[in-house]
Order: sequence, then structure tokens, then C-alpha cells
Amino acid sequence: MHKKLYSLQGKRVWIAGQTGLVGRSLTDELQNHDVLLLSAPHSALDLTQQQATFDWLAAHKPDVVFMAAGRVGGIGANVEYPADFIRDNLSMTLNVIDGAHKAGVDRLVFLGSSCIYPRDATNPIGEDALLTGALEPTNEAYAIAKIAGLKLCEHYRAQYGRNYISVMPTNLYGGYDNFDKDGGHVIPAMMIKFMEAKKAGADKVTLWGTGAPLREFLYAPDLVRALVLVAQAYDDAAPINVGSGEEVSIYDLAHLIARVTGFEGDIVFDDSKPDGTPRKFLDSSKINSLGWRAQTKLEAGLREVYGGLKG
Ligand code: GDP
Repeated sequence: MHKKLYSLQGKRVWIAGQTGLVGRSLTDELQNHDVLLLSAPHSALDLTQQQATFDWLAAHKPDVVFMAAGRVGGIGANVEYPADFIRDNLSMTLNVIDGAHKAGVDRLVFLGSSCIYPRDATNPIGEDALLTGALEPTNEAYAIAKIAGLKLCEHYRAQYGRNYISVMPTNLYGGYDNFDKDGGHVIPAMMIKFMEAKKAGADKVTLWGTGAPLREFLYAPDLVRALVLVAQAYDDAAPINVGSGEEVSIYDLAHLIARVTGFEGDIVFDDSKPDGTPRKFLDSSKINSLGWRAQTKLEAGLREVYGGLKG
């Protein structure tokens, strides 16, 4: 059993990015805990606006902040809009972390991503691989902003003694994802493509790349249990990885999603589209040793997500 360093009980908690995939799952999870959840919907607070973010934090004074806000997207969106990705993620990250510090927030959990590790890192990728090599070019802009975030946490800890920690989840999916064929991540994009093809009676679906890359997928409801755990039981400058331990090729993922959605036509890979990094399988032994393990197998998670989409 892990030792509790900090308790969320009775705390004022703010999830920056409350309407995203992680934010909405975390909101669901925190219903099971005795916390006071603060809310700042996007329509009321734009986190790229520094003064507005500082003012909101100073006025509402959370005890704990989960920084899950960001501009996110799949490989297509990252390649097409790198300036938007680096700008918006840098500004939101700086505004929330510095604003939290200025408002006296002593506990912050920053959400990173497995793409922060070097493209050619040895797999499984341990936390110590950070900044040991060049990044994967297709998501370098996003990764640099995420690295800046984890370094902000590390240095605010060193200079100001803030208990800010960084969590690096592997590729996430879930019912609150952005189901967009062009801009979304691979799982929601494939699901929509197969569903539309089935409905239209199309005989083939075209996917991106070669199908050879390997990815590790984690179901968002599993991740948020890890977030609640680390918020209470992890306190260190080094990031902590959160992976499912289940790896699959894009080719096998496509066939699995075709089965789940009932699409029976051909699956074609368009290798003029990028593959991205060949493999990014996390070493999650640190979070495992705190007592957390993913509970949802990929196929079960995909069936749940598809069930929700079908309505
Ligand atoms: P990544 O893990 O950061 O590369 O991001 P994605 O979630 O976008 O996954 C990209 C991987 O899935 C790459 O190898 C793509 O070539 C492959 N892929 C295949 N079809 C699709 C698709 O329709 N959309 C997306 N986003 N990726 C696809």
C-alpha cells in the first residue's frame, strides 16, 4: 500500500481543461471523493489569456490544481498546425502554473504526454530518458510545450518549494474523446471512419501510414484513478509515467476497431501519410509500485466507447 503524503479530502480542487478527455473523466472520478470541485468553463475563462487566468486563480484559490488543459490532436493536426500547438500549449501551461503559484496553490498535477521522450529512446521508456535525444518531428511542437510544463513544475519546486508534480500518460482514449476524422487521435478517427463506411455501405476504409507503428493505449477512466493516486501519494521533481502495459500495432488496432464496429470491408493503408514515432511503450514500474494498474483491456475499452457513440 502507498503512503499518503497529502489528502484530497475536503479540498478545493480545480481541473484546468474540465471539458477535455481527461478533464471530463476526472470530473466523473472526483464525484467518488469528498472534494469541492471548482468550475471555470472555457466560455468564462480562456487559459491563453494570462491576466484572466491569474485573476481567476487569485479569486477562487484552489488547494489543488490538475492541469489537463491544452490544444490536442492526432498526428494530422500536429503536422498541419505546429505553431498553434506550441503557442497555445506554452501559454496555457505557463499561465496556469505561474498563476497557481502566485495564488498560493501548493499542490499541482501537470499532465504531460509520452511524446516528450526522445524518438529513439530505448523501450520500455523510463522517466530518465527525458532530454537524452531528439524528439519525433511530427509532434515536436506539442512535446516542447509539455517539456516546458514539466520543467516549470521542477523549477518552481526547486526555487519556491512548490509541491508540483508531472504525470506522463501514454496514448489515451475514451468516451469523451474528440471524434474527428481529420484532427482526432487514431482511435476516435478510426472509429468514425469505420462507422461512416458501414453506414454508407462502402467497401473500403483508408487509414494513414504503414500500419507498422506500435502504440500503447490507456483508457481515460483508468488514467484518472492514477491521477487521484499520485495527487496524494507522489511528491518528486521527476515525472511519473502512466501506461497500460498493453501494446498493439496500428494494423492490429485497425482490425480490432473494424470488428468492434462491425465493418467488414477492406482496410487500406495510405503510406503517403506519416507513421509518426515507431514505438513509445512506457516503463510504468514507478506508478505500479504505488499500487496502480490499468484495469481495462483495449478491446473492452473500445467496446465501451463504441457503445456510447452508437447511443
Ligand atoms: P501519435 O501517437 O502521436 O502518433 O498520434 P495518433 O493518435 O494520431 O496516432 C497516429 C498513428 O496512427 C500513426 O502511426 C498514424 O499513421 C496512424 N493512423 C492510421 N490511421 C489514422 C487516422 O485515421 N488518424 C490518425 N490520427 N492516425 C492514424
